[in-house]
Amino acid sequence: MTAPSIGSIVIVGGGSAGWMTAAALSSLIDERGAMTITLVESEAIGSVGVGEATIPDILAFNQMLGIDEAEFMRATEATFKLGIEFIDWARPGDRYIHPFGQHGVDMEGVDFHHYWLRLRADGVETPIETYSLSALAARAGRFTAPHPDPRSILSHLRYAYHFDAALYARYLRRYAEARGVTRVEGIVTQVDRTASGEGIAAVVMASGERITGDIFFDCTGFRALLIGETLDVPYTDWSAWLPCDSALAMPSAPVGPPLPYTRSTAQPAGWQWRIPTQRRTGNGHIYSRHFMDDDTAEAVLRARVDGAPLAEPRQIRFTAGHRRRFWSGNCVAIGLSAGFLEPLESTSLYFIQEGISRFISLFPTKDMPDILRTEYNRHMDVEFEQVRDFIVLHYAATERDDTPFWRYCRTMDLPDTLRHKIELFRETGRVFRYNDELFARPSWVAVMLGQRIMPRRYDPVIATLPVGDVAHSLRSMAHAMADAVQRLPTHADYLAHYCAAG
Ligand code: FAD
Repeated sequence: MTAPSIGSIVIVGGGSAGWMTAAALSSLIDERGAMTITLVESEAIGSVGVGEATIPDILAFNQMLGIDEAEFMRATEATFKLGIEFIDWARPGDRYIHPFGQHGVDMEGVDFHHYWLRLRADGVETPIETYSLSALAARAGRFTAPHPDPRSILSHLRYAYHFDAALYARYLRRYAEARGVTRVEGIVTQVDRTASGEGIAAVVMASGERITGDIFFDCTGFRALLIGETLDVPYTDWSAWLPCDSALAMPSAPVGPPLPYTRSTAQPAGWQWRIPTQRRTGNGHIYSRHFMDDDTAEAVLRARVDGAPLAEPRQIRFTAGHRRRFWSGNCVAIGLSAGFLEPLESTSLYFIQEGISRFISLFPTKDMPDILRTEYNRHMDVEFEQVRDFIVLHYAATERDDTPFWRYCRTMDLPDTLRHKIELFRETGRVFRYNDELFARPSWVAVMLGQRIMPRRYDPVIATLPVGDVAHSLRSMAHAMADAVQRLPTHADYLAHYCAAG
């Protein structure tokens, strides 16, 4: 006999995590009323109110929901994002772009960057960005959608969005409510455990209303009301590798047309983001209180904001890491309650999306077999660890020793997995992708080279190619890309036209 199906889902929290979860699960609601989804949120508590940059995976999430892109962009004041520019990270004065999509085109089964390394060994110093369509378009402030024909050079473009996360949550709220999700406004003042103590039986509102469910999603942000405060699931603390523990966020009026990329500038004890949406620029300073006090951090932020501030800086504290179990009993933590890695590579909304997709693929029956939790927790552990390594790479691979913060970063002990990846790249120029990790070879190569990790050698297969032939191929590639980019509309024009036409 099969176990009974889940009949009621309760989502506590209505930030991006809560409404993304509600929107994705709303397809489970049918006319027979066999499934109910209730989302509880409190306007008085509000949401974290930051989170503006995404990675290309968000497109798949929106497509899964059947969302019209132009409508979504208007509703969330979105702009297009082609990558992230890192300034002053390896050395003061350095700048490189981690573009979406790869540099160049692989040839004869050999990764493109080996051809670039081959030329470099011969003294040709052309930056690798010269061969990235996304990076060139970003620098030129131009944009177009990728061409659907894989033979077109424009098929190599990849993009994501910058948007207002609060507007995204509002947009998804309309979507989810239209599909039958019930929203309850108010503050949860008490959480009741199941008789065994291992799960959640109900949440109790300030009004006295008691909301029961078969499964609960903890989307209560850093507070982690269910998974942390109630079920006491411990937190794995990664602050030894990611020492930043504070953020100051401050929007400003836009200056000039919106850039189609995020900017991340290293600072004496952390870094500062600049994210353009349609009507404002998101700015924020991520720093470590161990190395800088709050007042200095605020002065650093204000000094680099290039438009009139639209609000006072908002302070947020955090600890890099994640819950030791993401799914415990009948409670699944999604969003900041599950964990947080600083937004250096814009991965938080991705973790939300990945948590939801994995949950749907393991969708439980009421008896909730252990194997489902085990698989979910294993998967999310791996996701967090792989992204952690990629983020730590930016800090560890620095030559800066101008402040105590950077001296700490360049000498800290690394996770073995990251050390292995760096050493292998240094020795062979190769990056291997394990377990379908989020950041594939092109991303690792872009950041390793951008952070000045230079491999000792290149693929021996191309060692015998005449260097003149390699130079010719790469020159043609660079010309074709530069030419294609020159003919693209500006990002501002494309955006205005696209959003108006939608
Ligand atoms: P929140 O937005 O905090 O929502 C919590 C919800 O729980 C709210 O609705 C609140 O009302 C509700 N709640 C809490 N307690 C109760 C209660 N007792 N009763 C009822 N309701 C309750 N992500 C990206 O992808 N890209 C970025 O560029 C990015 N930048 C970031 C910068 C910073 C400094 C930080 C801190 C985060 C950033 N993030 C970014 C992460 C992103 O903001 C979050 O992952 C995302 O918004 C999800 O937040 P959340 O929904 O988990 O939490």
